[in-house]
Formats: sequence, C-alpha cells, structure tokens
Amino acid sequence: MKVGHLINGQVVESQDSYQDVFNPALGEATKQVCMASKQTVEQAISSAQDAFPAWRNTPPVKRARIMFRFKELLEQNAEKICHLIGEEHGKIVHDAAGELQRGIENVEYACGAPELLKGEFSKNVGPNIDSWSDFQPVGIVAGITPFNFPVMVPLWMFPIAIVCGNCFILKPSEKDPGASLYIAQLALEAGLPKGVLNVVNGGKEAVDALLEDSRVKAVSFVGSTPVAEAIYRKSTAMGKRCQALGGAKNHAIVMPDADIDNAVSQLLGAAFGSSGERCMALSVAVAVGDQTADALVEKIQEGMRDLAVGEFSNKENSFGPVITREHQQNVIKHITSAEEQGATLVVDGRNITVPGYEQGFFVGGTLIDNVTPEMDSYRAEIFGPVLQVMRVETMEEAMKLINEHEYGNGTCIFTRDGEAARYFADNIEVGMVGINIPLPVPVAYHSFGGWKRSLFGDLHAYGPDAVRFYTKRKTITQRWPSAGVREGASFSMPTMK
Ligand code: NAD
Repeated sequence: MKVGHLINGQVVESQDSYQDVFNPALGEATKQVCMASKQTVEQAISSAQDAFPAWRNTPPVKRARIMFRFKELLEQNAEKICHLIGEEHGKIVHDAAGELQRGIENVEYACGAPELLKGEFSKNVGPNIDSWSDFQPVGIVAGITPFNFPVMVPLWMFPIAIVCGNCFILKPSEKDPGASLYIAQLALEAGLPKGVLNVVNGGKEAVDALLEDSRVKAVSFVGSTPVAEAIYRKSTAMGKRCQALGGAKNHAIVMPDADIDNAVSQLLGAAFGSSGERCMALSVAVAVGDQTADALVEKIQEGMRDLAVGEFSNKENSFGPVITREHQQNVIKHITSAEEQGATLVVDGRNITVPGYEQGFFVGGTLIDNVTPEMDSYRAEIFGPVLQVMRVETMEEAMKLINEHEYGNGTCIFTRDGEAARYFADNIEVGMVGINIPLPVPVAYHSFGGWKRSLFGDLHAYGPDAVRFYTKRKTITQRWPSAGVREGASFSMPTMK
C-alpha cells in the first residue's frame, strides 16, 4: 500500500522514490510513502498559487462553514483516524482519541473566523478622518510536522491558516504520514476548493523545495531543535515568516508539602503516556529534600508495576512502542549512559518483550534516580518512556536547574503552597507552566509555545498568535472631503496638536 500526495484536490502517487512506513508494534514495514521531489513540490505550490486569489476573497463566514463541516467529518471518522495513528505511530487508541480531540478543538477555534478577522476601527483619528486595521492573508503557507502527533500538530496549523484566507501545503512526517493525508482529504470533502490545501509527503528534499520557493511566504515547523533552528534560519534568510517549535526537557518540581500520591499518579501518566514521545512529556522529576525523593521513588516504582506496554488497539495498554528501531536503540543508549555515569537504575525497561510482538520497537517504563546535571542523559531529550529523578535541597535550586537547561517548553510544580507556586510561575524561564497540572498544554483559544531553544520565532502556535502569524496587518486611513472643500499643502508632519 502506498501513501501518496494530495495535490490540486487529487491523491496522486508521484513517480519519485518511496520509503517504508513501519507498524512499530510489529517491527515490520507495512506501507510505503511517496517521497516528493522538487518538481512534485512545485506542482503543489502552483496549485496553491492558482487557488489563492479566489480563496482570499471568499467571505470568512463561508470559510468558517467549511470548518464546521470538517469538524463533523473528523468526529464521524474518529475510529478510522485513531486506527491510522495507532498502526503507524503505535500510540494506544485512547491516547490517539485524545490527540484527535485536541486537534478538533483547533478546528472549533477556526470556526470563529469572522470574529477572529474583524480588525480594528477608529473613527475621527483626525477631522473627518477614520482609520482601520485589516488582517490580510500572507499567501501560501507551508507546514512541516513531526511524527509524534500526526493529526494534532497539522490541525494546530492548517485550519487557522486556511480560515485566514491562505492556501496551505502540509509536509507531514514520513514516518507516519497516513493519518495526516486522510484528515486533509476530509477537509477537501468538507468543501475546501482544490488547491487550498495540498499535502506533499517526503523528507529533506521536499522541505528544501518548500523553503527555497519564493511563492511560499510563511513556514510553520514543529520537530526537533536542530532541524527547527536550521529551518528558521533558512526560511528567514529567504525573507519568509517562520515559527519553528523544537524539542524539550520538561521538569516537574515536587515540593515537600505536595500531595505525593497525586503527584505520583500525575507523573506516571505524563512521563510514560505515548511512550514519552510528547514534547510536553514530563521526563525529569526534581524532588526537594531527600525525604520527598525517597517517598517519590518508592511510590513511582510501585505505580510502574501496573504499566501495561503493548499494541495500539488494546485499550488496557498504557503505552505502545517507540517509533523506529533506531529510536529504540537511542533510548536504550541513554539509559545505559545514565547508569554508566553514576545514576541509579531503579526500574530498567531495556529488555522488555511483548508476547506476540517480539520484533516490535518496545522500551519498557524506566525509572532512574540520582541523576545529575552533567549527565548526557539529562542534557538530551530522550523522547522515550524514561523518568529521571534529581535530588535538590531547595526550590531555588530546582528552579536554577530548569532555568539553566537548554530547553524551555513545559514545566510543572506539585505543591500545596500558593505563594511558592506563584513565585515559580512568575520566575521560571519556561513558556508553558503547570501548577499541579502535569501537562499544561494550552487550550485552543490560548497559544502554544516554549522559550529558549524550544521555539525559534516570535509567535506561538495556534490560538490568537496563529491568527497574527497567518495574517498581515494593513492599516488604512481615509477622508472623504466635502464637495468643494480644498486644503492647502502642508509641509509639516501631520499631527493632532
Ligand atoms: P524531526 O525534527 O526529525 O522531523 C520533523 C519534520 O522535519 C519531519 O516532517 C521531517 O521530515 C522533517 N525533517 C527532518 N529532518 C530534516 C532536515 N534535515 N531538513 C528538513 N526537514 C527535515 O522531528 P520528529 O522526530 O519527527 O519529532 C520529534 C521531535 O519533535 C521532538 O524533538 C519533539 O520534542 C519535537 N516536538 C516539538 C513540539 C513542540 O511543540 N515544541 C511538538 C511535537 C514534537
């Protein structure tokens, strides 16, 4: 089975090269994805270019109505979407359903297009002079997305970009492209004119073709930090707008006064859900005080006995495999290096076997204690089901660790002390903060983004920031002089003095 592109309203299988798509639970290639060449990408850009003039002039309310239908189609086809996510990504169906729901909430936000694009108006900025700001589409926008949310992250981007009057080209991850292509087909079925949304599958060659084409005016990227940085630099050097969201290392501080049982269950879900392959996964627990650390490690270890690792369609499973054999080996390498560098391996998930899925890319839940800042496994984003525990004496020490880390995506504090929580929220150098909330992923009507090397660019993803990212402000100032009234030339700067 081949996963093609969606160009000018048609699914096409280009004559370009192919790459295997794996079912990571089986450890077998079950499909192939077409890898777009420069020419294939150019066809998609031309199709978007042709569709743009009519789409930019389509009333926002009509664009929004298509999004209402799209939302219904996503809901009606939820089972198929979750199945596609599960078989290519490996996440369990209940987790895939959560991903889809979070994506649908962005479509709901996009349904508010007429309100979101209302603009700003000032009457009488001067005598008989009115002024208003209008938000116009930027043109053709490209979206490049990661493997870990093949539905949610594309839905962070194209619904808002499209209701703002842009045409969009999505380049999903080549590791699990099926669900991304399918939701784009549903958007067309909902009524999008051909060319308004195109999908090109592929890798670096396809991305380079998008970045190097002057017809593409803006780029939204989500993925790892080295690629995010390279894409940001290249796009901006080409004069494009770019927002590039990168990797993460998210810490949770556990204070001595925290409700430990609650913190433990929250940490279990946030560290191991989706095999730790979430950019908001909590991968480091920083315990304040040895007593807190001892209690935390003991209870997490106890809780981990109930983790069930397996195949996506079994709802009883807690999480599935990681995405590729190479990534599995990389996660295992980090666990080994933590042990070699002096950390304590409390629960070791390196040698797990799932009966019936012996070739699958599984890593079991892993708990590592006594991790220190200079360890390689602490500095890297492991992106696997690995929870590291660090021990500090004070909250200030815990905050210093977080503030000095390369990444600044998400963080959380578990405490009963409102004053400490408020101080933490105010002073931590991280873009998304939870107070007794382990995964503080902003809802669709806020915006999503980290600080430091977790985001390159000025505006965050989705929500109000996305409306600004996908539009250009134009400010118009007008006067209609009464018949016969003439003003002489003035050579000074016009003011209202
Ligand atoms: P990745 O960087 O390998 O790939 C992301 C996208 O970039 C894919 O579409 C891929 O085809 C493309 N790509 C990869 N290498 C490229 C290159 N050299 N030139 C041009 N394009 C290239 O990321 P991934 O492994 O798919 O996803 C996991 C990463 O994404 C993690 O680091 C995770 O933290 C991050 N992520 C971040 C967020 C966020 O919001 N900050 C959200 C989800 C995932």
